[in-house]
Amino acid sequence: MLNKTKVVATIGPSTMEREQLKKLMDNGVDVVRINMSHASYNFCTEVVHNINELNQELDLSVAIMIDLVGPEIRTGSFLNGQAYFRKGDKIRIYMDDVIGDSTKFSVTYSGLIKQVKFNSIIKVKDGLMLFEVIDIKEDCLVCEVLTDGLINDNQTVMVDGLKISRPLLTRKDEDDILFAHKLNVDFLALSYVSSQEDVLAVNDILIRLKNDHIGIISKIETEEALDNLDEIIRVSDGIMIARGDLGVSVPLERIPGIQKKIINKCHEAGIVSIVSTELLSSMEASSRPTRAEVSDVANAVLDGADAVLLSSETTIGKFPIETLKMMERIINTAEQDVDYSDFSNRLNDNSNDITTVLAHNVCNCAIKLKCRCIIAPTMSGYTARKMSRYRPPCPILAVSPNIDTVKSLQLHFGVNPVLIDELSSLDKIIEESKKIVFKLISTSPGDKIVITGGYPFDKVKSTNFMKIEEL
Ligand code: PEP
Repeated sequence: MLNKTKVVATIGPSTMEREQLKKLMDNGVDVVRINMSHASYNFCTEVVHNINELNQELDLSVAIMIDLVGPEIRTGSFLNGQAYFRKGDKIRIYMDDVIGDSTKFSVTYSGLIKQVKFNSIIKVKDGLMLFEVIDIKEDCLVCEVLTDGLINDNQTVMVDGLKISRPLLTRKDEDDILFAHKLNVDFLALSYVSSQEDVLAVNDILIRLKNDHIGIISKIETEEALDNLDEIIRVSDGIMIARGDLGVSVPLERIPGIQKKIINKCHEAGIVSIVSTELLSSMEASSRPTRAEVSDVANAVLDGADAVLLSSETTIGKFPIETLKMMERIINTAEQDVDYSDFSNRLNDNSNDITTVLAHNVCNCAIKLKCRCIIAPTMSGYTARKMSRYRPPCPILAVSPNIDTVKSLQLHFGVNPVLIDELSSLDKIIEESKKIVFKLISTSPGDKIVITGGYPFDKVKSTNFMKIEEL
């Protein structure tokens, strides 16, 4: 099935082995994500190596996203990897590294002690565990435990309204960017972005590395990022609605509205939107999702998101492949309930540049003539990205001889990128595209397809033609 909404799966212990990666790829994953909060360089190298090999073996082009840690605060380590905290107990939170137990633990941000106040609530493990500050000592915070529960090593720590006073990129992030560049990954996700300067700082590093391939995905997970959303969108290639941390920073009930607002803004700006976290989280332990989760995935599709992201379901879940299959099924069914012609009408399109006018008309033509697909021969991906914004009801087959371009299109709504040998004459491309259509889409004689792009292929940077072909 050629779904339009893309799926990103995070790789962890449940999916790191080659056989599991192969199953994810066989079942339609478009992008794999590696979260640097948990992954070692050896882990990343092995996963990237396996994905590259499997892409060759399976004739696929699954893309890779590295998710940077950013200036987040996490707990240190615990004796035996975890500790249980009991409601009402008094415990200590240290700024210097100590081995934690059920009476104490440390955090990775020494500035915390100066920024919290008496009665501040410290939220650990995505807000599941709460601690109230009852005394502030020289080297630690004395806190009362407000919730019973277990904390493992390296869990997230957050305090409402806390602005972490240090640059977005830590030394580790800078090393990780260099590492991602050397591995030739396709996307970098930036955690805890708060302004456009944060995104531009990463862009500067990529320019210094002469890397014009990696796409920057800004994760929106704080109130500050929401305040600066428009400027962040202006300088990013995509936005991840990181509902895990966002749901700790803002009241949970605000998340559905925020999700819709961000998806609409990204759609208008022509950049990708990714909805992440807890979409099918009960499938970590069960082979079936809840009705509410099915509804959540379907709603992301109905909202018009470019992609949905699996995190703990595929990192530590017991049913990672079943979860992916379920997600693809929900997407496929939900997409049949969407009137895609409505999406292009929602755009506030006053621009009269040739590409925009042509892309809009190609989409209208595909709708009116009930075309089976739109073919976009492309060197840079430009035409395919523009077409994606119009959300046509038929698939967009982006054919390109450039593997980096093919992978960079994996997050775009409705785009099925296909690697070809070369972009030669228009006639040859039409001939080759028809063969790809027959392979990927069921067709009948007389069906129409529309081909659009910039010709001559390697000379123009805009879209300047459309051609209708009958099969
Ligand atoms: C999130 O917070 O929703 C998220 C995707 O980020 P991470 O997995 O890094 O917590």
